[in-house]
Order: sequence, then C-alpha cells, then structure tokens
Amino acid sequence: MTPDLEYIQKAFDRYNALCFRGELPGIRLELSRARTYLGRYEEKRPQVRFLGRRFSLPAAEPQRLIRISTAFDLTPEQQDDVIIHEMIHYYLAWKGLADRVPHGPHFRQLMEAINSRFGRHIVVRYKMGAPAVGQQGASADGQTGTASSQGHTGQTGAAGSQGTAGHLGAAGSRAGGAAASRAGRRIICVSHLRSGETGVTVCATTRVFYLRRALPRAYNIKSSEWYSTADPFFARYPRSNTPKIYRISPEDLSRHLQGAVRMAFKGRIFGPEETA
Ligand SMILES: [Zn+2]
Repeated sequence: MTPDLEYIQKAFDRYNALCFRGELPGIRLELSRARTYLGRYEEKRPQVRFLGRRFSLPAAEPQRLIRISTAFDLTPEQQDDVIIHEMIHYYLAWKGLADRVPHGPHFRQLMEAINSRFGRHIVVRYKMGAPAVGQQGASADGQTGTASSQGHTGQTGAAGSQGTAGHLGAAGSRAGGAAASRAGRRIICVSHLRSGETGVTVCATTRVFYLRRALPRAYNIKSSEWYSTADPFFARYPRSNTPKIYRISPEDLSRHLQGAVRMAFKGRIFGPEETA
C-alpha cells in the first residue's frame, strides 16, 4: 500500500486513542519520498540570530513533525507499525522521557508494552532489504549503497537549522563531505572511556573510517557510537583528522544528541543506522 496523509492522520488518531490513552496532541504529519527511512520523528527549536551566529532557544517549545516515507510498499500492518514507532518517539519527547540515544531503554520498554498488549510487531529498525521493508526492485543493500555512493544528504533542512531532517549517507566521498558541511551537519563519534568519562570527536567526513580504527588505539575506549548531527553546539569542537577526544558532560551530550541520526558501519558503507 502507499499511505496518503488522510490514512496517516486516521492511523494517528486511532493509535493515539488505543495505545496512548488519547494523550498525544495533534502533530504535523508529512509524506516523504525518502528511501533512507520508513518514518521519522523530528523536532526543531526556534532559533535566533545574534552577531551572525544562530542560537536555539532551549526554553521554547520545539516544532514537532512526523514524516512517513511512501517509497516502500508495506502491508497496512507494517505501515501502522511504522506510524506507531514514530508516535513512541513523539510520546517520549513530549513527556520529557526521551532516551539519550534514539532507541534507548524508555523506547524499548514502551515498544514492547505496545507489542504485547496490542499484538503489534513494532521493531527498533527494519533491516535493509528484509522482507518487512519489501522495497520494490532494489537489491538488499541498495538503500544505503545508493545513498552513500551519491553523497546524498536527503531532505536536509536549511543550513544551521537544528533538527533531525536529512540523512547523511556519505561514505567518505568528496561530494558527500561537501554537501554535509554546506548543510551544517557533522559526523561525531561519542566515546565512553574505561575511566568512566565520556568524550566526543567531530570527525572530518573523509576520515571517518580512519578514525574508527585510530581512536581505540589512542584511548582506552569501552564503547563508542556514531552520529550525524546538525546541532550547532558541536561547532565548538574542531573537525578532527587525527584521533582526539574532547571531554563532554552527560547533560550536554544528551541535550545535543536529541536530533542526531545514529550512524553505523556496514562493511565499506557508513550510513544512517535507523530506518524507522
Ligand atoms: Zn526510531
């Protein structure tokens, strides 16, 4: 099926009543033709300009938006699972319970509760090329492959706007890197050190694969995560060509990762991990 706005609005109302006790306020719903995700929940905070720089207003209510891609042929059940998935993101953000990472413990808890209570099959992410996606006429990894090799940045928002719009699929290609910096997006690596400290590296887009190997050699790292973010907060760190980690407080990190897209390495491709 190909959903239209009316279908999505009706599904939103139905599952709001069924799964969220009707608590969710209405939200802007949009369709997209994106092939890099099935659905997205997005937030943008109003920004002010001062001395040529942009600052977001943390106290202001963000503009919220759910985008559903029509580029995939899903069954109605799968389509509804995608819509509910985005509604969980919305619910947690609206309640102020958003996890530090997009699909953290709060997300999973609520997802599993809805799955078991209402017999849904919502998942954290749909595997590329898995039957759930049912992509027409594309190979298993065609989705990320195409995005990456073209240095495609999706529906990137206005430069410097803070939000989750757009995906970066740059596999370290020049085109991707240039497009990414024009759009004000940065690739960051968050490292959790064995010392208990957390640090961040804003990576030069052409050095992502090198830094993935080099950072754990230079530091005692327990685990790390990669993100693509348009949050201007990260402009304060230099774009690193060499393995350097800068300390960051957990509060700053969780606040400024809100709109980030989690990235993953799949063989030689570096692209968005989240597709739902
Ligand atoms: Zn999600």
